[in-house]
Amino acid sequence: MRILIVEDEVNLAAHLARALEHDGHDPRVVHDGKVALMEARDGSYDLLVLDVELPGMDGLEVLKQLRDLAVKSRVLMLTARGETPDKVAGLTGGADDYLSKPFAMNELVARVNALGGRFVAPTGRTLRLGDLTLSLDDREAWRGERRIELSERECALLGVLMREPGRIFSRVELSERVWAREHEYDTKLVDVFIGRLRKKIDEEKDKPLIETVHHLGYTLRDPDPA
Ligand code: CA
Repeated sequence: MRILIVEDEVNLAAHLARALEHDGHDPRVVHDGKVALMEARDGSYDLLVLDVELPGMDGLEVLKQLRDLAVKSRVLMLTARGETPDKVAGLTGGADDYLSKPFAMNELVARVNALGGRFVAPTGRTLRLGDLTLSLDDREAWRGERRIELSERECALLGVLMREPGRIFSRVELSERVWAREHEYDTKLVDVFIGRLRKKIDEEKDKPLIETVHHLGYTLRDPDPA
């Protein structure tokens, strides 16, 4: 999932980002409430991890303004130790969940995955989108009842697309993400692998998921947008 971490304790924020990245997410960090509002107002994040006490604008106000803008990103609030029960209760109106500091990192990761259940299975190694399931460990996908074997690179490419349904990836970005450490990359290779994935997962009888966006790249259509 694409996650925005809003936390002014710099070390904690970096620690959160590492833990979420390790679990397969794509986190970004900001340290200020106003900056968070600017960053999240277009609704492009699946989830916000949002601290309450922040410079610029406090987390409750950020949440209120996002909801006033009809931003549907899920929100996990981080509340300070000793926060009064009233205040915590107030949070649940617009937040999807909250966690009191201090917390165990694996608890936070579990809560994040629970909130993102539509995209990431609890193991974090299985991705789902509509009737498409990808098991990263077994390198196989399922389209409904049909099992599909994937090569290592096909699996990696599909994983990148499935983690952020609806996002448009340029050929260069896909090339860098999937063939990152090789001495040269060729964006035509991306087209070849997209073609193979299409044959495997988008057979005629199915609703096609992989879309070509003219001049821009590729995206995986979310068949059931929130
Ligand atoms: Ca804080």
